Amino acid sequence: MDNCIFCKIVAKQIPASVVYEDDDVLAFKDINPAAPVHLLVIPKQHVDTLSDCGMEHAAVLGKMLALAPKLAEEHGVAVKDDGNGGRSGGFKTLINSGPDGGQEVYHLHLHMYGGKRPWRGLG
Ligand code: IMP
Repeated sequence: MDNCIFCKIVAKQIPASVVYEDDDVLAFKDINPAAPVHLLVIPKQHVDTLSDCGMEHAAVLGKMLALAPKLAEEHGVAVKDDGNGGRSGGFKTLINSGPDGGQEVYHLHLHMYGGKRPWRGLG
């Protein structure tokens, strides 16, 4: 889509630090990270917002979410057994939708945050 910054990243018209790519989705580092690990996972095909999605988007949405554990493992933030019956590590996934949802870039994207806290503005 014209003038969509994330479409331009997909088209390699502007640079990004890409960490995963296949035919359907692209993952890259957020340019202004709010946590030590802050990745964005996007569908290659432009959709403005989650609010525009329907069941026809179920496969790509599932793929975006299913990618998170792989990215977590690769970036050292997977949930681990701490050896004392508890867990350590972990990450947050988030989709901002629309103005009240805090969405600033209108190309659907899944945020993935992880690493040592505190994280900026994320609870
Ligand atoms: P939103 O508020 O959910 O729309 O988040 C948009 C995110 O895109 C923000 O975290 C920005 O830092 C990030 N962002 C904007 N432009 C770029 C870019 O060119 N490369 C990587 N991340 C970007």
